[in-house]
Amino acid sequence: MKNQYLCKIYDNVKAKNLNEPEFLQAVYEVLNSIEPYVNENSNLEKNGILERFVEPERMITFRIPWVDDQGKVHVNRGYRVEFSSAIGPYKGGIRLHPTVNQSIIKFLGFEQTLKNSLTGLPMGGGKGGSDFDPKGKSDLEIMRFCQSFMNELYRHIGPNTDVPAGDIGTGAREIGYMFGQYKKLKNEFTGVLTGKGLSYGGSLGRTEATGYGLCYYTNKMLEVMKNTSFKNKKVIISGSGNVALYAMQKAQELGAIVIAMSDSNGYIYNEKGLNFKFLKELKEVKRLRISEYLKFDDSTTYVSCSKDIWKVKCDIALPCATQNELTLDDAKILVSNGVIAIGEGANMPCTLEATDYFIKNEILFGPAKAANAGGVMVSGFEMSQNSMRYAWSFEEVDNKLKTQMENIFLEVLECATHYNDKYNFVLGANISGFKKVANAMIAQGVC
Ligand code: NDP
Repeated sequence: MKNQYLCKIYDNVKAKNLNEPEFLQAVYEVLNSIEPYVNENSNLEKNGILERFVEPERMITFRIPWVDDQGKVHVNRGYRVEFSSAIGPYKGGIRLHPTVNQSIIKFLGFEQTLKNSLTGLPMGGGKGGSDFDPKGKSDLEIMRFCQSFMNELYRHIGPNTDVPAGDIGTGAREIGYMFGQYKKLKNEFTGVLTGKGLSYGGSLGRTEATGYGLCYYTNKMLEVMKNTSFKNKKVIISGSGNVALYAMQKAQELGAIVIAMSDSNGYIYNEKGLNFKFLKELKEVKRLRISEYLKFDDSTTYVSCSKDIWKVKCDIALPCATQNELTLDDAKILVSNGVIAIGEGANMPCTLEATDYFIKNEILFGPAKAANAGGVMVSGFEMSQNSMRYAWSFEEVDNKLKTQMENIFLEVLECATHYNDKYNFVLGANISGFKKVANAMIAQGVC
């Protein structure tokens, strides 16, 4: 990064947020890659665009007291970052995981701003969550936690203000409890959350959207850049949650053989391919660990180290678990094993060094904010359907998702090509997303 304005912005962000490594990582990646655009647009500095772009509009932290089944009181910390409303109401998921802290919520909210811009829909950027661990909790404990979370959050959100959704640890069950509490507190039935159940305003296709969208994006990238597709490719997918599971299903529908998947304890491997139905039953219905898959299929191997999944030889890798799960060492192994494409299903799963390594080696690299935008895109469709008091069919949602994910890839490619960096889809996605946000900020004056 040579541009003085960019260097000054990054130094300031660093000085103010020294103990927020994930946030600094995300900001550095974006500032570094939008340099060619910033070089040719001096009005950005005059309008203080980057100063405002890296500072959340609002950061809320709050106490979440809840009672366990034994009657003991626990307290967790809740967060909501309302990062940018330049192009629409704040929009982004709620993460429930013991590792959640302010740095992680801010990095996710910052990334979300650009991702939402790439969808072409009028949605700003936000993110929230808590250091609460849903694992091993009873349904009633989850309900009491979600109600307490909403007891504070409800005053900050609304269908035209801030519309949260799911993320790690927050699925249909948690969204249901949060929605119920919001409705009770506000006495209104509105589309204030997305990822809702189908019987109370959810959209068909939302559950599948991020994983399916990831595959539509990756398949288009393979087709345009290498004249190939998922067909007969060996695929590994980290994680076995919402994104991973539906990426598996779509990759298989597109003809791939998904040979390895993981959770935070280990990974399963089967050269002939894993079975979607078994895994869905295991993770969505029974909520068991991935090691239990062997009870469904004893020809599968379990390795009790999730990081080692990247050592499995494959054509396509889809990291769909969490941030920084794929490092430079992992990238080197994947490349030496002949990987041709990476599609980021999780947010920032590849470290900066791993990402650079893939790009330098001309491995097709789908960055998260473009490749996993399908989830928030269908959340946007859910908001539209709620406003219209109408419901589209699954096919209608899925067709729109496919078309739009392919369009995002083409827009990213066009931008990367324009800046003579054809394989740098990080640059393409960041500049494409940033341009719209910056123009909206300039148009709206200093606010
Ligand atoms: P889920 O909670 O459904 O699943 C998360 C999966 O990742 C689980 O298999 C979990 O394993 C694994 N995981 C979590 N933390 C770690 C860790 N530290 N090390 C290894 N594995 C881990 O979450 P989602 O599938 O919804 O989200 C996954 C990623 O996708 C996140 O980065 C999220 O931000 C991103 N994303 C999600 C969207 C959505 O629509 N859901 C939209 C866009 C992005 P375990 O059970 O062992 O914890």
